[in-house]
Amino acid sequence: MYEVSTMKSYQRALKTLASGNAYELTFYQSSVSKPKARVYMQAALHGAEIQGIAVIRHLQERLAQSDLPFDFKLLPLANPAAFDTKMGEYGYGRFDPRTGMNWNRGFVNLLSASDFFEAFECERFINTHAHLGYDQAIHVFEHALKERLDILVNASAGQPPETQLALILHQEALDADYIFDLHCDSISKPYLYTPQYLLNKRLLNFTAQHFITTPCRFSPCFNQAVFYPFWHFTEQWNRHTGETNVSPKKAFTYELGSKESYCSETAKTTLDGILNYVTNAHNPVSQAWWCTEDDYHRLRAPRGGIFELSCELGKVHLEKEDIGVLHTFPGQEASLPIAYEDTFIPLTVTASPVAHQGDELVKIMTRYQEVS
Ligand SMILES: [Zn+2]
Repeated sequence: MYEVSTMKSYQRALKTLASGNAYELTFYQSSVSKPKARVYMQAALHGAEIQGIAVIRHLQERLAQSDLPFDFKLLPLANPAAFDTKMGEYGYGRFDPRTGMNWNRGFVNLLSASDFFEAFECERFINTHAHLGYDQAIHVFEHALKERLDILVNASAGQPPETQLALILHQEALDADYIFDLHCDSISKPYLYTPQYLLNKRLLNFTAQHFITTPCRFSPCFNQAVFYPFWHFTEQWNRHTGETNVSPKKAFTYELGSKESYCSETAKTTLDGILNYVTNAHNPVSQAWWCTEDDYHRLRAPRGGIFELSCELGKVHLEKEDIGVLHTFPGQEASLPIAYEDTFIPLTVTASPVAHQGDELVKIMTRYQEVS
């Protein structure tokens, strides 16, 4: 049992079920009188990726003991239906089992047209709001996005479950300054996806040592759907004014390690790193690596077999060093070593060694650089 008594909670209804039961989301909120910023954190959007629940529990305990000068909105269980869905021993959590839809691919581009409104005309908006200055104008811009999102949420009750869930999560996170979507990968080192504009030494506050930077383009995953409109707006604004503003949204997908694993001790140090990033009070000296999303490669099985990893996750490896081997059965082609032609850092390996042709085996960072 953990203490959350200082936090207010509220529920948002999700779909009702044939049995008459219903799913809902429970948000926890704490606020201070003059917050330095708003922090939004959600966990387990993919049901089997549960380490984020441990991180949020520690944060709730920490907030019960002492205030931090920030407003927090926490959602420990972002997708209760996926959390409940198991196939045998394991959670099936990444996909809706009925449709195969990835739960993290249903988020909308708020700048695009919908059944209810036209595409957002950024240029025109900037022309009519340029006199306000960037800080004010982006606030008005956020309000305009909120209106569009509210319309979509109000019309979402009859939409597919992943669409309804995505719209509600997006709505809850929209006005936050720091947004953390806590996930896990297959068998994985901890690493973060960060928008390119947040690439700087401050990232060294996190305990993770690997970062994948995302470009200014829309993707229907939570993190990118949240930060993309603000980044696009900021680039347009800078082009229009010659200024060099940086989007105020500090939004991350944090892959906390391996799915199907829950460790309270690790969660404590992970949380320390997250709070160090938010408070930005330290001058971290650790070493970390980054590469672009385009240089973060999935290596897939060139043929069927049983994959055995022979490299160490998180470590720098030289070109042509073995990543692993794809074992085959007698009478088939010889077992196949898996390698890469350049230096690389492997971050993840498939949780199931049984690999059909085309299945993902590992994800590796290539053309990586040191965070500085
Ligand atoms: Zn995930």
